[in-house]
Amino acid sequence: LKKNISLLIVIILFLSCSFSASAHPSGVTCYPGAEILGYSVDCNNHQANNSFTYSYHGLLGSYTQYVTSGVSKWSGTVSISYKTSPLLSQGAVSVYTDPDTSTVAEFYNYSSNSSGHLTSWEIRFNKSIMDGRTTTKNETTAAHEFGHAIGLNDLKHSTNQSQLMYGYSDRTATAPSTKDIIGAKEATK
Ligand SMILES: [Zn+2]
Repeated sequence: LKKNISLLIVIILFLSCSFSASAHPSGVTCYPGAEILGYSVDCNNHQANNSFTYSYHGLLGSYTQYVTSGVSKWSGTVSISYKTSPLLSQGAVSVYTDPDTSTVAEFYNYSSNSSGHLTSWEIRFNKSIMDGRTTTKNETTAAHEFGHAIGLNDLKHSTNQSQLMYGYSDRTATAPSTKDIIGAKEATK
């Protein structure tokens, strides 16, 4: 019995530690998911609900079409709307040119409030790489980056190659999979 009680104490300590790690409003727990579940939520940087906005910084040219298509791949799961004014939008989307990196696109410069909810973020697309790729690949990249804006992490394990949030360019998904959608719903609860 003594052994069981100390085990129970260890479990309670472990649970209280893991719950206090995510600063979430009472009654709402951010579920982080796992590679084995096919999705991973960034509990410190995810959306407060299933609707958010973005605008463009600078001229995107043909990239607006990649963005529009990428965003539409999430429709029915998360409502992501375009705002003309950067002042009225949560996130900023832009393009840049850097031939000296293998980075295709980035979700970066993000900040969140004490509940772990994103308050601002940026996505940028590297023209040096993306100008030489197919439209389908670029639309998929846009959808993947917006997955980060939803609050999903990259997946690294090869068993997740068929998820949109797989972090490497040899992913096979061109749109959110069933598991990406489950993750997006968890991230925006
Ligand atoms: Zn990524």
